[in-house]
Amino acid sequence: MTTWLLEVTDIKQYTYCPRIVFYRYCLPTIRPTTVLMEEGIRQHMEEEDREERRSLRHYQLKEGERFFHLALQSETLGLVARIDLAIATPSRAAVGAEGIVVEYKYSEQKAGAHFKLQLAAYALLLEEAWNIPVKRGFIYSIPLKSAEVVSITPALRKKVLQTIASIRQLVERQEMPDPPVAQGRCVTCEFRRFCNDVV
Ligand code: SF4
Repeated sequence: MTTWLLEVTDIKQYTYCPRIVFYRYCLPTIRPTTVLMEEGIRQHMEEEDREERRSLRHYQLKEGERFFHLALQSETLGLVARIDLAIATPSRAAVGAEGIVVEYKYSEQKAGAHFKLQLAAYALLLEEAWNIPVKRGFIYSIPLKSAEVVSITPALRKKVLQTIASIRQLVERQEMPDPPVAQGRCVTCEFRRFCNDVV
């Protein structure tokens, strides 16, 4: 039985830089927000309104039931999440139904490893909740108005479980992790002023 639940966004952030998750759980008084973050949240909310009017063709589907802001929790996985959009195609009750997870992002870049892992974690949660397979997900780029498909591979599933275990270990040990090798990402990171050993 899991004593506390991680959020799926922790998995995404840990993959981007483990220190962000360290700050969250081990130094919780550090909570910076930036103009970029606030703009991202605003765009996210506007996109959710538009999504309700958008057709399913962005997700290569002809029919499906959409569930917005779906809250899921799994004691087995030790995870909690709110999924931007979950789709059941052709419907949840249909024989052979398939689940699909969608995440919006405020970026024109291709989905990085951290976004793919986030989708895979959503997929595991949705499979457990709906008891139907989730073989793919989509990252929807708000500025590009297009969706990138991500296959939920066995390797991604395994990586989700490994990352959950690594995060729990990090929190238990309370040791600040090293910065990422690719420190270019530190330039726009909201935690930069707390990391004195990066560029
Ligand atoms: S500034 Fe760099 S090392 Fe520090 S939390 Fe951000 S990405 Fe990680």
